[in-house]
Amino acid sequence: MTVLRYSRAADLAEAVSAGQEARLLGGGTNLIDLMRKGVERPQHLLDVSRLPAGIDETEDGGLLIGGALSNAALAADPRIRAHYPMLSRAVLAGASAQIRNMATVAGNLMQRTRCPYFADVAGASCNRRVPGSGCDAQGGVSRYTAVLGTSKSCIAAHPSDMAVALVALDAVVCLEGPAGPRRLAITDFHLLPGDSPEKETALAPGEVISGVVLPPSSLAARSAYRKVRDRASYAFALVSVAAGLRLEAGRIAEARIALGGVGTVPWRAARAEALLIGAEPTPELFARAADAELAEAETQPATAFKPELARRTLRAVLTTLAEDAA
Ligand SMILES: Cc1cc2nc3c(=O)[nH]c(=O)nc-3n(C[C@H](O)[C@H](O)[C@H](O)COP(=O)(O)OP(=O)(O)OC[C@H]3O[C@@H](n4cnc5c(N)ncnc54)[C@H](O)[C@@H]3O)c2cc1C
Repeated sequence: MTVLRYSRAADLAEAVSAGQEARLLGGGTNLIDLMRKGVERPQHLLDVSRLPAGIDETEDGGLLIGGALSNAALAADPRIRAHYPMLSRAVLAGASAQIRNMATVAGNLMQRTRCPYFADVAGASCNRRVPGSGCDAQGGVSRYTAVLGTSKSCIAAHPSDMAVALVALDAVVCLEGPAGPRRLAITDFHLLPGDSPEKETALAPGEVISGVVLPPSSLAARSAYRKVRDRASYAFALVSVAAGLRLEAGRIAEARIALGGVGTVPWRAARAEALLIGAEPTPELFARAADAELAEAETQPATAFKPELARRTLRAVLTTLAEDAA
């Protein structure tokens, strides 16, 4: 029998001081699953689900979302729905209503990969789970592995829908730790696997995610999230696109794009954005932008379909956004 200690943090200070030895518990929808499978083996769970869970307006007109806010409450908030619809849609495209009620914003950002080899403690080698053990996903059979940002050590895809929208929105992650508070651009939060895929985020030991800031945005109110998956609900993304465009005098003045399901991290489509800005929105331009973003995709036999699916989904989303903006 494994003895497991459970305690609950009353505030952020308590979470930071106890969190250095304990494992943080949000809604438990990922961590408890992984404990059941033997992937995670914490000895002390520190419940942080009662920490700040509101949405406050910031001085510059953005929003500060509490890390313990449930995914359901985030998606339903009228300010998120009106001003950041891609975020609301991304969250609603994930998991199920029951899971979204339990899952927290911080836990969603920290959720671990759904690569089946990662979860197969009995039969598979996985560098992310056991550093140096190998990567059975390469040459394996999963459709749920990444084609961008992969390394020799790991091809696991990042599973979060919410994080894809947050990356497109230039969100900032608020951290509280033994050395005090700090803020980090979300694009710097999730780490490429490189040679050490077990290091998944820039979270330092003892740090707690206290919240996420959404900066004000002139294009987010007309943004979109499209998710392609094997079933219409309750399935992780094969490919997803979060995007927003702002047109000025018939040209693209601003573009924000991120991809899900294809990257080892929520994937900011910087190459596509660079091609779009300043140009007239045409089908040829959207095709060039999608080609540029997927140019370095590296596939397995089971994921050979993904680059083309990603290109088509991106073109379709950009076409709809441009029509709406015109
Ligand atoms: C059947 C099923 C289907 C799903 N489908 C989807 C899907 O389609 N799309 C999608 O995006 N997600 C999906 N999910 C994943 C779900 O979104 C995550 O499980 C959930 O968001 C995790 O949040 P949580 O609060 O429950 O995290 P927990 O399980 O409590 O924790 C997850 C991790 O976050 C850490 N953590 C928690 N809080 C903090 C904090 N404040 N600071 C630092 N670290 C913290 C924990 O230590 C742990 O490592 C699915 C899950 C299930 C079970």
